[in-house]
Amino acid sequence: TTRDWQDADARHFLPPFTDFRRLARKGARVITRADGIPLWDSDGHRILDAMRGLWCVNVGYGQRALADAATRQLSELPFYNAFFQTATPPAIELAELLAEVTPPQFEHVFFTGSGSEGNDTVVRMVRRYWDLLGEPGRDVIISRRNAYHGSTMAGASLGGMSGMHAQGGLPIPGIVHIEQPYWWAHGRPHGWSRDEFGLVAARWLEQEILRLGPEKVAAFIGEPVQGAGGVIVPPATYWPEVQRICDRYGVLLVSDEVICGFGRTGRWFGCETMGTRPDLMTFAKGVTSGYVPLGGVMVGERVARVLIERGGEFAHGYTYSGHPVACAVGLANVRLIRDLRLVEHVAGDVGPYLAQAYADLAGHPLVGEAETCGLMGALLLVRDKATGAAFDPAWEAGMVCRGHCFREGLIMRAVGDRMIIAPPLVITRTQIDEMVALIRRCLDLTLADARAAGQLG
Ligand code: PMP
Repeated sequence: TTRDWQDADARHFLPPFTDFRRLARKGARVITRADGIPLWDSDGHRILDAMRGLWCVNVGYGQRALADAATRQLSELPFYNAFFQTATPPAIELAELLAEVTPPQFEHVFFTGSGSEGNDTVVRMVRRYWDLLGEPGRDVIISRRNAYHGSTMAGASLGGMSGMHAQGGLPIPGIVHIEQPYWWAHGRPHGWSRDEFGLVAARWLEQEILRLGPEKVAAFIGEPVQGAGGVIVPPATYWPEVQRICDRYGVLLVSDEVICGFGRTGRWFGCETMGTRPDLMTFAKGVTSGYVPLGGVMVGERVARVLIERGGEFAHGYTYSGHPVACAVGLANVRLIRDLRLVEHVAGDVGPYLAQAYADLAGHPLVGEAETCGLMGALLLVRDKATGAAFDPAWEAGMVCRGHCFREGLIMRAVGDRMIIAPPLVITRTQIDEMVALIRRCLDLTLADARAAGQLG
C-alpha cells in the first residue's frame, strides 16, 4: 500500500514548500501513526521526531484528553460562526483561559485558523489602530530578514525569506526589513561580543525608524527566537533594547509566538523569556499542539481599548474564527500544559538538560556553534572548527546530515547548515539522551562523508 499511496500522492497532492517533480520521482514518506514522541511510517519504521511535527506537538502525540474534547464537541455542536453577534462556549472559555496564561496586558483575543492568518490580522489591526487614532499615514511595518511569519500574501511579506519574495512579487507595500540579530553571521565577523552585537542589531531598528520617520512607522514584528530561519537565539541584550526603541517612538511591538508560545522557551511565551512587553502577540501551533488547526492574535489593552472604545466595525474575520471544535481542543490542550506543569518541566528540568547536552555537542569537530533556548536547539555545521569557515554550499552539508538522520530514524530539520530541533515538551531526560545519541551518530556519519569528499578544512 505504500506504493499505492505514493502513486496517488504524486498524481493528486501538491504539498507545501515542495519541488513537486522531485518528490514524485522519489515518493513521499507516508506517516501513519504516532504515540508520545515516536512516529511510524507506512512500512513500519519507527522515527524519533525531534521536530514535534512542524514545531506543533507540544504535549506529544496520543493525548486522550484532546481527542475526547474534539469528539464531544463534534457531537454537540461541530460548527457555528462568530460573525453575527454570536459566540460558542468553547471560544468564550478559551479566550478567558488565554487571558489568564498570557502576560497581564492581554485581555482580548482575535481567533484565526492559522499563524499566517494571525499575521494578516496583525497587519490589518495595527493599521486600523493608527487610523482610529487619526494617523492613517502611520502604516509601515518593520520586520527582519530571514524571519518567518507565514505564507499568505501578508505573512510572506512580513517574513524575510528572499526565496519566497522572489515568487509572486512580494513584499506587498508598506513592509520593510532590517537585518536579523544573527551573531554568527553578522556580529562575529566584526569581532563584537554577543552582548555588544545585540545592541548593534537592535539599533538597526532605531536607524530604520528614523530613516522612515517615526510618524510613518506603525509596528515592529519579530519572533522571540527565529524558528524557521534556523533557531537563531538573539543575544540577551537585543530584545530589551528593541523594547526601549519601540517605547521611545510609540511603535507597536508585535511578538510572533507561533513557535515560541505555550512553553517552548521555558516560559509560557517567548516574550517573557526575552523580557519584552508586546502590544500584540500572534499564536497558532502550540495552542492546540497541532491536533486541529487554530491560531489567533492576543490583543494588548493599548490596542484593544482603541478598537473597542472608538467603535465602528473592524471589517475583518474568518469563517473559522473561534471554531468550536478547534477551541475545545485548544482549551483541553492549554489546561493539559498547565496541569502537567510542562512550562516548569522545560524551565527547570529538560531545558537545562538539553542545554548541557548541546554544550557537549559543541565539542564535536563538525560543530561551529551549538545553541538552545528552552526546548529548541541548533547546531551549525562548519568546515573548519578552528576558523569557523563554512562548507562549500554546493556540498549541502545540512542535507547530507539530514539524510543520515532519516536513515537513522531521527527527524532533524536542516536550514542551510544549521541542524535544528524542537522536541515535544513532554520529553524526558532519558528520551533526550536517546535523541542526542542519535544526533551524535549522524554528526559522525556526516563528518566521515565530509572527509571522504575532501570537504574538510
Ligand atoms: N509565524 C511563525 C513564527 C511560524 O513559525 C509560522 C509557521 N511555521 C507561521 C507564522 C505561520 O503559521 P501557519 O503555517 O500556521 O500559517
